[in-house]
Amino acid sequence: MLIDRARIHVKAGSGGDGCTSFYRDRRVRKGKPNGGDGGSGGDVVFAADRNIHTLLDFKYNRHHSAQRGGHGGSNNKKGKRGESLFIRVPVGTVITESGTGLLLRDLAREGESVIVARGGVGGKGNTKHRPGTAGAEGEGKELELELKLIADVGIVGYPNAGKSTFISRVSRAKSKIGNYAFTTKAPILGIVRFDECEAVFADMPGLISGAHRGRGLGDEFLRHIERTRVLIHMVDIAQLEGRSAHEDYDSINGELSLYKRSLARKPQVIACNKIDISGSRENFSRFCDKIGKSAYPVSALTGEGIDKLLEAVFRCLSGQT
Ligand code: GDP
Ligand code: MG
Repeated sequence: MLIDRARIHVKAGSGGDGCTSFYRDRRVRKGKPNGGDGGSGGDVVFAADRNIHTLLDFKYNRHHSAQRGGHGGSNNKKGKRGESLFIRVPVGTVITESGTGLLLRDLAREGESVIVARGGVGGKGNTKHRPGTAGAEGEGKELELELKLIADVGIVGYPNAGKSTFISRVSRAKSKIGNYAFTTKAPILGIVRFDECEAVFADMPGLISGAHRGRGLGDEFLRHIERTRVLIHMVDIAQLEGRSAHEDYDSINGELSLYKRSLARKPQVIACNKIDISGSRENFSRFCDKIGKSAYPVSALTGEGIDKLLEAVFRCLSGQT
């Protein structure tokens, strides 16, 4: 099960109190102030880590606090700084403040981090301030975490190639995730299981006709496709629409590289869809000869060849191509 939302409470450490103390000996009767400052409290920091995949832990673990600062001591001894609390979250976690809905950060990249609650500053010892002061309270916040699912696999291809049909066949409708208000232009996500593995697939619509210029497609789209690890390039091999399959194939690849060069370099598994339609077999052989690469003949409608395709995709995901 993938949990994609969590509400948690974070509390940064309060500052340690400043110390009030006096140096006394036989000669210094009145006593000289020598209380040290309190240490500052630790921050609560979120960091994106690609080894974390869900927000599941937060469902059972709602309270997260950083250490408080140590109190100051006599002899001008400064209190110890409280240790910051580092919380690892999946890449793609969006953090907002509950209530206000204020966006604190979208942790979109591996290693990116943000301080969500600041530790209180330590109080002043009476050396500097009479009398010594108490440490400031650490920030406390109620946070909303939302994991925008990151697709492992993006499905690209011409309109009507069969992308939607394919994703609804291979992903379990039941495991569809979240209440994301996807517009028609945003990718449709589905979780696909194969053997013991699981991956998020995204149907990437509209990747032609000026998509690379961003026309009508938001950054959202680009971000999703950029984050995928493998692309399924779906080609309509029935060719009933009067275009040739390899031209479709070339123009989608051209579009990808115009959009961003790195997209064109992503590993692609080529799926020739609608193999159930007569004439498709012949088109398929011709297509493979023409592009000089291997491709998978499939029918998103009948299910033919789908397992072999998924096997190839998951092999590619696990890096053993
Ligand atoms: P998308 O625009 O790439 O998402 O394409 P759709 O999934 O909406 O499919 C476009 C049309 O092709 C629909 O009418 C589908 O029923 C049909 N279609 C999709 N896959 C197949 C297939 O494998 N065989 C046949 N015969 N029709 C298909
Ligand atoms: Mg579609």
